[in-house]
Amino acid sequence: MPTIFQRIIDKEIPAKIVHEDDLCLAFQDVAPQAPTHVLVIPKKALANLAAAADEDQALLGHLLLTAKKVAEQLGLTNGYRTVINCGRDGGQSVDHLHIHLLGGRALHWPPG
Ligand code: 5GP
Repeated sequence: MPTIFQRIIDKEIPAKIVHEDDLCLAFQDVAPQAPTHVLVIPKKALANLAAAADEDQALLGHLLLTAKKVAEQLGLTNGYRTVINCGRDGGQSVDHLHIHLLGGRALHWPPG
């Protein structure tokens, strides 16, 4: 079964896309936890960060730089947070690597 994010990559289900290139897609989270909540995902089917390998080094860098550029594009001039949940204890619910980009309000620390 393809994940929900694979189906978004394949344009089988809609998403509010804010950035797309050859390697990744960024779109608004369906259940935002902050005024801005975007997910940056690779087009490559990586289940999570734990599944990434040395060969994914450039891709992982690209995802982070894309998150930075999307933050600039969306005007997050006061700062923002990036989060990667990994595995059960990390709170990951969709088995396709994704970076949460959260901003638009002051965020608390530590997370729950
Ligand atoms: P996780 O808990 O795996 O770190 O994050 C998964 C995120 O995907 C959640 O924030 C959730 O709201 C979001 N999400 C789940 N299904 C969909 C969907 O169909 N569309 C969009 N845009 N976001 C989704």
